[in-house]
Amino acid sequence: MLERIQNIHRQPLFALLGQARRVHLENNRSKPMRLCALANVKMGGCGEDCAYCAQSRRHSAGIRTTRWMTVRETAALAREGRRQGAVCMGISAAWRGTRLNHPDFQRLMDLIAAIRREKLRPCATLGNINLETAMALKQAGVDCYNHNLETSPEFFKKIITTHTFEDRLSTIRHIRKAGMALCCGGIIGMGEKTRDRLRLIEELAKLNPAPEGIPINCLMPISGTPLEKTPPMDPLDLIRFIATVRIVFPHSIVRLGAGRLGLSREAQALCFYAGANGIFIGRRLLTAANPAPDDDRRLLEKLALI
Ligand code: SF4
Repeated sequence: MLERIQNIHRQPLFALLGQARRVHLENNRSKPMRLCALANVKMGGCGEDCAYCAQSRRHSAGIRTTRWMTVRETAALAREGRRQGAVCMGISAAWRGTRLNHPDFQRLMDLIAAIRREKLRPCATLGNINLETAMALKQAGVDCYNHNLETSPEFFKKIITTHTFEDRLSTIRHIRKAGMALCCGGIIGMGEKTRDRLRLIEELAKLNPAPEGIPINCLMPISGTPLEKTPPMDPLDLIRFIATVRIVFPHSIVRLGAGRLGLSREAQALCFYAGANGIFIGRRLLTAANPAPDDDRRLLEKLALI
């Protein structure tokens, strides 16, 4: 599998883009661009040590632990997302593994219900979960769970030490067993080698069934985190990566995630040409800035993607 992925990825860029475009149109021509809103309902104070993340309390990124977002605030965000064209809303909390018996679990259920009342599909990003928790979330109406593999199993150990790549796979098994769709991708530009990026694609390809959504994030180096001095990614490397993912996963929604603010409109257009067919909208992602919703709408209209 890795050899096939390497052969796809190493093609001259225009040959790769041509192949990705053909695969994309054959499989997704009639599917609209998928817009997903995000609500970070409890920020900061996380006990994990993900090197890219400003919310870890082990780093000094200056993100203070916030109180939980209220039902009212969450509903307002969902309404705003729906006005901007979102069909789903990712609900995220900096949490070291959500558990059913946690005192805050009911609070989470209330926020999920608020999103559903606003007619958006809730998608959860709540870290490692056991089967019991996954079943409870599914029952509450969460039909998609986001849990990224982030990078290759080899590079993962250099980025996160408080849990393992196997822990992530175990959560993915619980998500599937509970009957939820899976949104699973990673981050590139963290200092990994090309081989690590392709190993990530290989690991994603081992998941059966394939993830329904594949978010692709570019590192946004945040001061106070261990990756603060990482040089920015070359957008052409991102475009090459997206095209490869599209060819390996013809049917998945390939979501362009964090890092869009650092891309020109032309680079974003090439990402869409290469097969990206989803974005996260809203002024902020979890902690980082995102393009303004009006700018997104203008770009997508200009490209006739909405
Ligand atoms: S990425 Fe998630 S699990 Fe890791 S430190 Fe940030 S909030 Fe915690």
